[in-house]
Amino acid sequence: MRDVTESYGTIVIGGGQAGLATGYHLQRQGQDFVILDASERIGDAWRNRWDSLRLFTPARYNGLPGMAFPAPGHYYPSKDDMADYLEAYAERFDLAVRTGIRVNGLSRHGNRFLVTAEGPSTDSGPALRFAAENVVVATGAYHCPQVPAFAPELDPEIVQLHSSDYQRPSQLQEGAVLVVGAANSGAEIALELSQSHRTWLSGRHPGSEPARPGSALGRLITPLMWFVFSHVLNVKTPIGRKLRPKFLEMGGVPLARVRPADLQAAGVERVYARTVGVQDGQPVLEDGRALDVANVVWCTGFRSDFDWINLPIFDDDGEPVHERGVVPAAPGLYFVGLFFQSALASVLVGGVGRDAAYIAGAIAGRSPVTRSGQARSGTRHDVRVA
Ligand code: FAD
Repeated sequence: MRDVTESYGTIVIGGGQAGLATGYHLQRQGQDFVILDASERIGDAWRNRWDSLRLFTPARYNGLPGMAFPAPGHYYPSKDDMADYLEAYAERFDLAVRTGIRVNGLSRHGNRFLVTAEGPSTDSGPALRFAAENVVVATGAYHCPQVPAFAPELDPEIVQLHSSDYQRPSQLQEGAVLVVGAANSGAEIALELSQSHRTWLSGRHPGSEPARPGSALGRLITPLMWFVFSHVLNVKTPIGRKLRPKFLEMGGVPLARVRPADLQAAGVERVYARTVGVQDGQPVLEDGRALDVANVVWCTGFRSDFDWINLPIFDDDGEPVHERGVVPAAPGLYFVGLFFQSALASVLVGGVGRDAAYIAGAIAGRSPVTRSGQARSGTRHDVRVA
């Protein structure tokens, strides 16, 4: 059987900040590409986060290549500000983004990649098929919620939410809440919940940035911190290579806005013991205490979900083996937006542009545009493959 397949030079999977920044560089090179995104609207990854979320990075560090974030440098944007900025970015550079397309397969077909996807509605006909010489996976480091295996053993009366589903305190029932995981999301959500619920926060302290965002000291040292996150904690430096595995294990960055003292002042019951199991339906800490709570919010992070990539590129933990986003085992395949891809800043808005430029450079080395302006982004060619 033969199917119609749309063909492009490069397919970027994911149209968040990582995919858009990659698109920006590909566009400047005159590459033929399309960005496929599962969301209805550009920026939805940010829009869907909890209501009160403000970025912990100031506007000065929230710009993508070619377009500064439209706010004073020290402003801390809301999640919707950020979502709208991404939408405006795609519009400004006329990037070819096709929304409502969820990719569910990536494999090799001869010397090209075959990408299969579901369209916006299930009754839209057969699965979509795309072919490309290059594929950039930019599906985000934070979209597959991870909860401990014992979570289903909790009393069914307990309301359980992962941070990715948390929007506001009214989602919880009356009674105490245990927030599990004390990195940035856990600390911010615990602080918010402490206004309406008796709140426990369990988990190790991931360290704090040296100064609070927005403070005078913060303004002074943010450029230095940004330098460290981008150029010191980087795979090109010995210290960066040494610390990278530790950051990968931790999976996050130090506390930014919420300090341990804020949690204490708000009455959050901070326990450094981790939550390790269940006893009589209640969560149990590693010091043996069982907590009588009515709600649990899991701020336990995310795991990769690359099951749809049918290529031998993964290590024993299911993580792609790559060098700064270039996958040696599958020439033409790239990642952008991975945690500590090339530096600690890689996963941040202001850090992803450098990785995107690097990957676009690698694509240009592999697929040079021969005649200036010949290849336009989003040019669709229908081809037939067996
Ligand atoms: P996402 O924003 O997750 O975008 C990925 C896109 O890929 C989505 O649009 C999704 O629809 C699409 N997609 C996924 N799977 C598929 C598929 N199979 N097919 C098609 N499309 C697909 N960074 C900062 O710099 N400052 C901050 O203050 C900050 N705050 C954060 C707060 C939270 C709670 C979190 C979780 C992260 C925060 N980050 C922050 C980190 C980072 O900037 C964000 O996670 C950002 O959203 C990552 O962008 P991305 O493009 O890599 O991934």
